[in-house]
Amino acid sequence: MRDPRFDILFESVKIGPKTTKNRFYQVPHCTALGTFSPHATAKFREIKAEGGWGVVNTELCMIHPSSDSSPSGGERLWSDDDKPGLQLMVEAVQKHGALAGCELTHQGALAGNRMSRERPMSASPRPAMDVPAVVRQMDKQDISDVRRWHRAAARRARDIGFDIVYVYASHMMGLPGDFITQRVNRRTDEYGGVIENRARLLRELIEDTKEEIGSDCAVAVRFGVDEGLGDAGYTCSGDGRRVVEMLAELPDLWDVNVQNINLDVMTARFADEGWQEPFTAFVKQVTSKPVVAVGRYTSPDRMVSLIKNGLVDLIGAARPSIADPFLPKKIEEGRIEDIRECIGCNTCLSMQYMGGAIRCTQNPTTGEEWRRGWHPERVPAKMSDERILVIGGGPAGLEATLTLGRRGYSVALSERSNFLGGRSVLESALPGLSTYRRVADYRIGQIHKLANVDIYLGSEIQASDVADFDFTTIVVATGSTWDRDGIGKANRFPVNGWDQPHVITPDDVMAGRTIEGPVVINDDEGYYLGGVIAEKLAKQGLDVTLLTPDPEPSPLLKYTSEREAVHQTLLKLGVKLVTARRLVEIGADEVEAHCIYTGKAIRLPAAIVVMICLRSPNDGLLHDLRKTVAENSPMFTVHAIGDCFAPGTVADAVHSGHRFGREMDQTPIGDINYLIEKPFVRDPNGWDQFASRR
Ligand code: ADP
Ligand code: SF4
Repeated sequence: MRDPRFDILFESVKIGPKTTKNRFYQVPHCTALGTFSPHATAKFREIKAEGGWGVVNTELCMIHPSSDSSPSGGERLWSDDDKPGLQLMVEAVQKHGALAGCELTHQGALAGNRMSRERPMSASPRPAMDVPAVVRQMDKQDISDVRRWHRAAARRARDIGFDIVYVYASHMMGLPGDFITQRVNRRTDEYGGVIENRARLLRELIEDTKEEIGSDCAVAVRFGVDEGLGDAGYTCSGDGRRVVEMLAELPDLWDVNVQNINLDVMTARFADEGWQEPFTAFVKQVTSKPVVAVGRYTSPDRMVSLIKNGLVDLIGAARPSIADPFLPKKIEEGRIEDIRECIGCNTCLSMQYMGGAIRCTQNPTTGEEWRRGWHPERVPAKMSDERILVIGGGPAGLEATLTLGRRGYSVALSERSNFLGGRSVLESALPGLSTYRRVADYRIGQIHKLANVDIYLGSEIQASDVADFDFTTIVVATGSTWDRDGIGKANRFPVNGWDQPHVITPDDVMAGRTIEGPVVINDDEGYYLGGVIAEKLAKQGLDVTLLTPDPEPSPLLKYTSEREAVHQTLLKLGVKLVTARRLVEIGADEVEAHCIYTGKAIRLPAAIVVMICLRSPNDGLLHDLRKTVAENSPMFTVHAIGDCFAPGTVADAVHSGHRFGREMDQTPIGDINYLIEKPFVRDPNGWDQFASRR
């Protein structure tokens, strides 16, 4: 069934004493499930092994309490107490013929140690990350301690069955990386100065690990070959290359990327598939060991060319493996069109930074594999002969339709407009968001394969229509509308002057409303749309001011690693950034804003004001239908999903639609029927439960 041109992707690769079954390599990536829930971690990784990934790695796995990643979940092998949790994952992954890898880590300067209260340490003193402290300089005893801890953690990893054990020196989160960059390392001893000295700790850790477990496990190195800072850091043509040259044959595998995490995990808004190739391409030329690199690869043809052109031996993936854990299997089975492509939005990553567990815009089952028992490719068969009407074909309605259709229910999807996809399609026309279309495209493609689903475009449903049909379940997925009145974080009451014709919303911008400057964008949301609309209008040549009550534009994008890129883009385009100011009054051709600290007023010229504040559910139809149910007791039930239930992210809408599709026939509580009694299982082995059983 497999197209022979993809055969090369299914060749095995020898990594030290281990051999992979194919070239699909899930590189280490964070989930924040780690110690929160070992069972959830095991299932999350197992699903990828089941989906065909030849290698499945952990997230960062801390070797000692002096590297404590709390409150982010992460993994730990601080002591033998931590072994049982990770052993669940090893067994789950290996069951499917995949190799299990463990990314041993000491975070060095980046370790916050909020829980352990150990003092962060690194090559040289520097400000600690997000904690008011100074990172202390390591002395020789500290270096020898770290080497001893790393050896001990490697033994633990080997003892619980890991096939691959990492030495981690990337993302400015791995201690050996701190030593390599002169931005951190100002030492004058044999660990400072020339690159041979600065790479000494990395060399020692590789040698220690090889010596300790090298005959049982493959030893991999994850190294950021370029800091991505030009002359301000080391580069892949300078010291980054030199490190790989010096240590070329020492590890069993090179896993290479860009050192700066914000550049390594760039969103589709700022980087295309494979943007790291110029940095990592040299590595295969200087080592005979297998090389893996990432680049948000979702196209099998691109993967083949990477191998054929000698850039890598293994296709590294974090996000593409989250969006579609079955990507390798789909290629193997000749089902390319079934691949659920990552949209490069970094919702997955943001939750890790915020302290919650992983989630994904494209794959609603992410993180839910164990606690809700959701499989990305399998749904339970229908439990009744319900006939279901889904009203609204945005992300929520499409996902509910797909899930219900796959379960075998008879489903009709009515969409008022002449296209499916709702906000994911509308937003995809904005700068940098074209991949958002994939949310709709994947679902439409899959729904078209289902004979039990009918789609009606240009079909606006009113409550009075429904009585004429014989549906037994009505799902209202009519989305939400941006408010114009300015109520939000900064304003508890409508802003004076909000109801003038030149006060508009993102809905008007996306609908193609003609806009003349000067424009003030009042961004009280702090997510991506404010910056994206500013970019769009500035590119049209308009005079644009981004006004926000927050101390910086788009503050929530620090969680998607886009903060710097957004700032750079807006500043380059000449967008004026007015921060920490609350919009108070909208006049005919100017607005008044007050400093949120002093109340001092400023005035900004504004022919158009774009309000990005709250969104209100489009729930008129929902209420009408509920009234019909209350008054006439018809033979149908009514439910709200997605933004119509509660406006949120596209990921929230997809999750809501999926959840309804799975849970609608379970015992309900409350008047929103899909709130069921026990929505998810809690892990008795979460946090330090394993340790406390000593
Ligand atoms: P969500 O993110 O919750 O899926 P969207 O706003 O993206 O929400 O999508 C809602 C969809 O519902 C839009 O495509 C809109 O055209 C459609 N819609 C809204 N009201 C009706 C209605 N009365 N009948 C049919 N479709 C509707
Ligand atoms: Fe890709 Fe977005 Fe899913 Fe992350 S959340 S895997 S970036 S689609």
